[in-house]
Amino acid sequence: MRIRILGAGVAGTAAAALLAAAGHEVELIDEDFAPPALGTSLALFPPAQRVLARIGVLDAVSAGATAPREGRLVGRGGRVLATLPSGDAMLVPRPHLLACLRRALPSDVRRRRIRVQDVRPLRRGADVLVGADGLHSLTRLSGWGEGARARGHGMTILRGITPLAPPEISETWGGGWLFGITPLTGGGTNWFASVPEHRAPDREGDLAHLREVVGGARAAIDTVLEASAPARTTVHGLFTVPPVRPVREDVVLIGDAAHAMAPNLGHGANTALSDAAALATALDSAQRIRPALARYAARRHLVDQGWRLGSEAMLRAAMADGSSGGRDTVLGAAGRVLARCPRGARRVAGRVPSDPRVGP
Ligand SMILES: Cc1cc2nc3c(=O)[nH]c(=O)nc-3n(C[C@H](O)[C@H](O)[C@H](O)COP(=O)(O)OP(=O)(O)OC[C@H]3O[C@@H](n4cnc5c(N)ncnc54)[C@H](O)[C@@H]3O)c2cc1C
Repeated sequence: MRIRILGAGVAGTAAAALLAAAGHEVELIDEDFAPPALGTSLALFPPAQRVLARIGVLDAVSAGATAPREGRLVGRGGRVLATLPSGDAMLVPRPHLLACLRRALPSDVRRRRIRVQDVRPLRRGADVLVGADGLHSLTRLSGWGEGARARGHGMTILRGITPLAPPEISETWGGGWLFGITPLTGGGTNWFASVPEHRAPDREGDLAHLREVVGGARAAIDTVLEASAPARTTVHGLFTVPPVRPVREDVVLIGDAAHAMAPNLGHGANTALSDAAALATALDSAQRIRPALARYAARRHLVDQGWRLGSEAMLRAAMADGSSGGRDTVLGAAGRVLARCPRGARRVAGRVPSDPRVGP
């Protein structure tokens, strides 16, 4: 089968590796094959790790990852609401993950570097067009229309890294804002924050605004922000994609192009990897393309939409004002229950809902 993939992020590169290994003729298109400039981390849970094993890069990816055992959820006023095990997640710097996936591409995968302005010509000469072109996917806009345009949530996300060791591993829900601190491979800190929408003319101004919003709430956050710098910070809006069925005729959407979700459950890249594996399985030895793509949609659509909805619910909970104390009381109680039931806690932290069918 001749398969053309637009987008060489996590989803597109993983799909290219798996489809080419299955004997398909694969072309991978991206405007820029360079690694991302900033090495912020992604949490990858066991189902995604199994996909990496199927591609043959799990050991290489793990070698550049860290695997914290647990982290704390902290509420307004610094109250620890729960200590959650990491769910066997590993934290992988995004450039390292992409480098490992790209190294795994068989040499016969054709790479084309262009900024695509019109996806319609990409369908010519291909049996399947895979839209792996991310949050603002041109493939989705072109085939699914204006109603499928990504929507903003009135929030700004800031992410960064610092060379200092993390003072703790935590996510603080401060009442209208969120601040996360995780370790970075090599001993540094990875941090992320969501605040109500605000953009300054430059990143220095964005960081100054963040310090105004969250500064003084917790010593650990102040320590991380003191060590942060504009050149090691990235800032963007928070967008998600409305629910779309990921297949139309011979075009299929995977990863963020299909279901970009709020980052609050840390599952965008996880579902992107599972999509890639499910697509390769569906097309493997398929005689007819459309039934194979329908099988792919049946397998992934509800799972991916479940994560999208769950992430959005978590976003709302995390960003709630929380001043009545009701949210933190409920979370504190849930945290105490989970602390007495480590297996259940692991499932909450990352194992469920996993897709047991996506395996090596
Ligand atoms: C703050 C934050 C934290 C996150 N943390 C996690 C986490 O811990 N765990 C997790 O699983 N996920 C996490 N995610 C989500 C994760 O980053 C994304 O879901 C994932 O990277 C999506 O991969 P993708 O390949 O679908 O899209 P992308 O990575 O966006 O790749 C799309 C590719 O398409 C190319 N492209 C797009 N349009 C064109 C065009 N017209 N022409 C040519 N090329 C084009 C782009 O250059 C790009 O390379 C987080 C996201 C955020 C914002």
